[in-house]
Amino acid sequence: MTHTQETSLSELDRQEVHLPQAVAVLENATSVTILCHIQPDADTIGSGLALALVLERKGIPVQVAFGAPDELPESMRELPGTHLLVPASQVRRNVDLLVTVDCGSAGRLGRLADRLETAGETLVIDHHRSNTRFGHINLIEESAESTTAVVVRMFDLWGVDIDADVAHCLYAGLVTDTGAFRWVQPGTHALAERLLATGIDGARIARRLLDTHPFGWLPMLSEVLASAKLLPDAAGGRGLVYAVIRQANVGGLRSEEIESVIDIVRTTSEAEVAAVLKEAADGSWAVSLRSKSDVDVSLVAGNLGGGGHRFAAGYTATATAAEIVTSLVDSLG
Ligand code: AMP
Ligand code: MN
Ligand code: MN
Repeated sequence: MTHTQETSLSELDRQEVHLPQAVAVLENATSVTILCHIQPDADTIGSGLALALVLERKGIPVQVAFGAPDELPESMRELPGTHLLVPASQVRRNVDLLVTVDCGSAGRLGRLADRLETAGETLVIDHHRSNTRFGHINLIEESAESTTAVVVRMFDLWGVDIDADVAHCLYAGLVTDTGAFRWVQPGTHALAERLLATGIDGARIARRLLDTHPFGWLPMLSEVLASAKLLPDAAGGRGLVYAVIRQANVGGLRSEEIESVIDIVRTTSEAEVAAVLKEAADGSWAVSLRSKSDVDVSLVAGNLGGGGHRFAAGYTATATAAEIVTSLVDSLG
């Protein structure tokens, strides 16, 4: 890394946003590819589809994709704009403008990271504390509740009319990344109100994204939670609670069921930090980290090769579950 790039990662620069440049580059684009992060959530997909719908209406050719898995998670299939999704294998190599949404680093693009090299311009739209500023233009708002909230600010400067379809996509990211309006700040509810006023069904969107699981979710939770462990001395005595989801626990369940587990584990009052180890089909592990107030898990995940936000972060590892717990405990100090 050159000195200039290091300087661009300074705390001061991280606070900067580049709204006018972002709007200008979108306004002038002749074709756009929007990339969401691998193992997509509703914030990355909602941001990608909202922007794609707006570009489509402006007559700009646009495609949206994510590197893995092959299929869009089922809970997101009701989002407007899915007709603009293309399989990863069909993403154009040479595009005028490449936009990434909700990706803290190029690695989050998975197999599509190489498209950064062949695009004319790259625009990174994100809200991760750990964002590495891998675009030509980086629109990063660390304080934003969701990437969809950043997209709204960009749309406002651009003069975009947010109709019900676009609002549906934007609300999906807002409701999920705020934990159904648990992690809010001044302005969050005003933004939600503005989106709801377009006529979208907020209750239905939230239920589909957050509160709908097949019956098999219940025995999976029972098995996985029964083996949860509490390490009260970890994290300098603040405590770590963790659970392990093995492939054998998963059966035919979806990513939605697997991702729900951390939200139960993290409520443990005796632990500042919560972790869920999720075994992938190839034997590698994805680790979700959450903290409550004192521990910055984006730094912990960063040290272990991942990233995220202060209170929600993650990384991947190839080791045994026991080894992963040991290195996590070491990193927590
Ligand atoms: P998750 O636990 O998967 O919900 O992720 C929590 C946060 O950490 C999200 O904001 C992710 O973007 C980030 N994150 C999760 N896994 C990784 C990873 N392997 N590398 C970088 N960031 C990650
Ligand atoms: Mn995300
Ligand atoms: Mn997000």
